[in-house]
Amino acid sequence: MIHVVALAGGVGGAKLVDGLAQLLPPENLTVIVNTGDDFDHLGLKICPDLDTVCYTLAGLANPASGWGRQEESWNALGVLKALGGPDWFNLGDRDLGLHLERTRRLQAGQPLSQVTADFCRAMGVKHPVLPMSDQPVPTRVFTSQGELAFQEYFVHRQCQPEVNGFRFDNVQAAQPAPGALKALAGADVVVFCPSNPWVSIDPILAVPGMRQAVGERPVVAVSPIIGGQTVKGPAAKMYAELGITPSALAVALHYRSLLAGFVFDNLDESLAGSIEEAGMRTCVTDTLMVVPDDRKRLAGEVIQFCQSLVENTGPDKGK
Ligand code: GDP
Repeated sequence: MIHVVALAGGVGGAKLVDGLAQLLPPENLTVIVNTGDDFDHLGLKICPDLDTVCYTLAGLANPASGWGRQEESWNALGVLKALGGPDWFNLGDRDLGLHLERTRRLQAGQPLSQVTADFCRAMGVKHPVLPMSDQPVPTRVFTSQGELAFQEYFVHRQCQPEVNGFRFDNVQAAQPAPGALKALAGADVVVFCPSNPWVSIDPILAVPGMRQAVGERPVVAVSPIIGGQTVKGPAAKMYAELGITPSALAVALHYRSLLAGFVFDNLDESLAGSIEEAGMRTCVTDTLMVVPDDRKRLAGEVIQFCQSLVENTGPDKGK
């Protein structure tokens, strides 16, 4: 059976990761997650994408929002608000418990990868989930309103400011989390989940050594853009503001130098010729994951596509 390393952000990425985890045993799937969205808030270390992936794999995620936990209550946030505290970032009571314990462990000197592995074990997540790095690499967004911290842009200002670039702070001093490069070296294929290319996948690739290790394997990306639009979030808006027409083709070209194959939606079938001209194989299917079964179905198609690429070209020549 094929060995896969999946690169993922939050909500879009977690859905495909969930499907892959239903079909591949833990020794055949490692997930590397963006931590560029991480920030310190109320004295706590918050890792939104990491938590979304772990909650999803643990079956604890809120099915309506895709982020946060199911059966959540909001008492602490209500008190914070009543006292005039900063309530723009939603933190449920159960979620807060995890942030408290993660912050305590990090302050005691445990690396984030270790804390994540411990939490995964406690939550019953069997597949290895790695942060991209143990060192903080906070994404900064250059906007019409100045340079903003990622969550200030994303949540507090609701992606309203026009974007003109990104910076991954401290990235040159960062290293891939322990196990990441080894997992990549042993992978038959790397899958870029349908996550935001600019602020979910690019930060992972920017960690020194990561792009090179990814580039040595065949890579398959799943488009987060369907019919020129995002399912959720600002990816299409970012493309447009950066002067690029948002489309599945734009995503394929974004990753062009790395990709052996590209999975995109039936709605965008007419782009197949242009995407193939960019030098990659294509897989056109229904990429929208609405109900849980969609995740497994799409993951199955992605695995099959990956297998066909690897079989046709050999694991070292799939690109
Ligand atoms: P975030 O950090 O929570 O924004 O999560 P991601 O970066 O992982 O995901 C955001 C991207 O996922 C957006 O660009 C969405 O369009 C995409 N997305 C969300 N749900 C789906 C889906 O069901 N199918 C596809 N193809 N893309 C999706």
